[in-house]
Amino acid sequence: MLAPFTAGWQSSDLHPLVIEKSEGSYVYDSNGRKYLDSLAGLWCTALGGNEPRLVAAATAQLNTLPFYHSFWNRTTKPSLDLAKELLETFTANKMAKAFFTNSGSEANDTQVKLVWYYNNALGRPDKKKFIARAKSYHGSTLIAASLSGLPALHQKFDLPAPFVLHTDCPHYWRYHLPGETEEEFSTRLAKNLEELILKEGPETIAAFIAEPVMGAGGVIPPPATYFEKIQAVVKKYDILFIADEVICAFGRLGTMYGCDKYNIKPDLVSVAKALSSAYMPIGAVLVSPKVSDVIYSQSNKLGSFSHGFTYSGHPVACAVAIEALKIYKERKFVEKVRNIAPRFQDGIKAFSDSPIIGEIRGTGLILGTEFTDNKSPNDPFPSEWGVGAYFGAQCEKHGMLVRVAGDNIMMSPPFIITPEEVDQLISIYGIALKATEERVKELK
Ligand code: PLP
Repeated sequence: MLAPFTAGWQSSDLHPLVIEKSEGSYVYDSNGRKYLDSLAGLWCTALGGNEPRLVAAATAQLNTLPFYHSFWNRTTKPSLDLAKELLETFTANKMAKAFFTNSGSEANDTQVKLVWYYNNALGRPDKKKFIARAKSYHGSTLIAASLSGLPALHQKFDLPAPFVLHTDCPHYWRYHLPGETEEEFSTRLAKNLEELILKEGPETIAAFIAEPVMGAGGVIPPPATYFEKIQAVVKKYDILFIADEVICAFGRLGTMYGCDKYNIKPDLVSVAKALSSAYMPIGAVLVSPKVSDVIYSQSNKLGSFSHGFTYSGHPVACAVAIEALKIYKERKFVEKVRNIAPRFQDGIKAFSDSPIIGEIRGTGLILGTEFTDNKSPNDPFPSEWGVGAYFGAQCEKHGMLVRVAGDNIMMSPPFIITPEEVDQLISIYGIALKATEERVKELK
């Protein structure tokens, strides 16, 4: 297998961890070892590893209609029902239509095509550039990787595509100037964004895309007043706002959407992952009437809206997603996450004084740890020390899987995590941290 995001795939020495079974907040490997899955798969199995209602929903749909497509005004009931349900869950701004994809990357690629189609319909052929942010992650297809602001996604892939521009990463701890408050930092970033727009020409900028809380870039919640100030700039120049809610949606931040938490009023929204609790691959784009009305009238002129995938609105994926949305609502997961979040956040943040931790940051059920020396963003440990990797291996040894990216550690446990499991997570984190501190001491 050519493994995604894995180094040395051709090496016969590589021994992958083979996961064979999942149960609640835990997964089991092929040797029967049990791990607390602190990342919920890839920030996605919100309902844990064996939710019987999702399995039943998939089985029932497989037994009735395993597949039919949604092209040429033919479709299936699950896709119509899911579109209706999903649009009702999003209340930060009015959304009129849902377009289904198989992944978050496809959702973000679709965003670019929708926005270009929209501006072509409006007779603005030059308004095509996208602004994304450094350290953002929007997926790994050609366009989604271009939008992403992580160098590894661009290097040797001839990316980013030339229509994508990147503006500042809103990471206060790392990038604020001496004496600058969070609000002042946000003001400066909004000013930089405006300068970029003016330099490029507002008539060339089509859309701005942002994750409410940055995920794969290291879990970076926005600084105070950031989205308020950014939205004012974007609005001023008639630039569409795309909220990439692929990680944040459905309760992870203790609100149904990240947009609810940060008062974001997007024109377009991308979702995936927890939409089906990852039991089936599915993503979606939510489209505001401002955009969908124009797309409808343009497609009438052209004879069709020629975009879509064989599996857009796959009935089995839609049936599972409908059931997942029902479960989120019935079991009040937004409230549940809000209630358990302090135990998780405070429990891990209690380790902030560790001499090898630069910053711990997060909100709701998402959290990042960055290892640095001297508590400074400017003193990274030598990469050959592999501090993050060592911590990750220690967690694994003691029965927990975390996401490691250099010296950044990320966690986003399933919404079903119990208080006892949170305590176990904190305890394993503490053991791994102690071992990592010892290791750094030896290396110094
Ligand atoms: N957008 C965000 C914010 C993500 O975190 C991800 C994946 O982690 C994606 C998009 C891409 O989703 P997928 O891997 O389903 O293509």
